[in-house]
Amino acid sequence: MLRDVVTSLRMVGDFTEGEKMEEQPKVDRKHPEGIPIPSHLAEWLGPLDWYADDPYIEGDLICPCGCRNLEFYYPGETHKPALLTQHIPVWIDVLDESGEVSFWFAIDVVCVDCQKRVVVFDNFRHGTTAFLADNYWEHQERPTMKKWVCSDCGGVSHHGRPHFRFDSLIEFLNENEGKCGADRWGDAFHWFGMKIECVNCGNRIHSWAGYESG
Ligand SMILES: [Zn+2]
Ligand SMILES: [Zn+2]
Repeated sequence: MLRDVVTSLRMVGDFTEGEKMEEQPKVDRKHPEGIPIPSHLAEWLGPLDWYADDPYIEGDLICPCGCRNLEFYYPGETHKPALLTQHIPVWIDVLDESGEVSFWFAIDVVCVDCQKRVVVFDNFRHGTTAFLADNYWEHQERPTMKKWVCSDCGGVSHHGRPHFRFDSLIEFLNENEGKCGADRWGDAFHWFGMKIECVNCGNRIHSWAGYESG
C-alpha cells in the first residue's frame, strides 16, 4: 500500500516536470520575449528584424510546414501609384449590414506545398482600430479574392516579407487601459506593409501592400 502511494507520488513528480518542458512556446526562439507579434501570424513569421525605437518588426512569411513559396490573394483591384512602376493591390468598397459603404483591404496567402491558408491582413480584423472589435465577417460573406500573378512572367508563387509599426508599449497600455493587457500589444499595429518577390523570375515589388490601420 505504502509502496503504491510512493510510486504514484513519484509519477506525479515526473509528470509535472515533463509538462513544464512541453509548455515552452514553439515560437520563442524566433520571437524573443518583449517583441510585439501580431498573434494571427505567430506561427507564420520567420526570424524578425526588430527596431525597438520605432517600434517596428519585419520578417519573412514562412508556412508552419517550413515552405516559403506562397500564393498571394488580394481583393481583386489594382492601381499604380505615381512613384511605382508596377500595379499593386488596392482596397475595394464593400457594403456592411446597414448598407453603408466601407473600404476593405485584405491579403491572404496559401502555401504552395501544403495548401494551408492564413489571413495576413484584413482591415476589418487587424490593427489598432479593429483588433478589439467584433469579427466583421462573422455574419457576412467575405468576397472571393483574386490570386496575384507576376506581371513579368505570369508566375503565381512568391516570397513575402511583411512589416508592422506599433505605438510604444506605454502608449498602447494607456490607450487600451481596461480593455486588454500587454499580451495584445502585437495585435495593435498602426501600419502594415509588405514586399513580395516572384519565385520564378525574381521580379520584386517593394511596396506591394500598405495600409494605415489607425
Ligand atoms: Zn505549408
Ligand atoms: Zn515572375
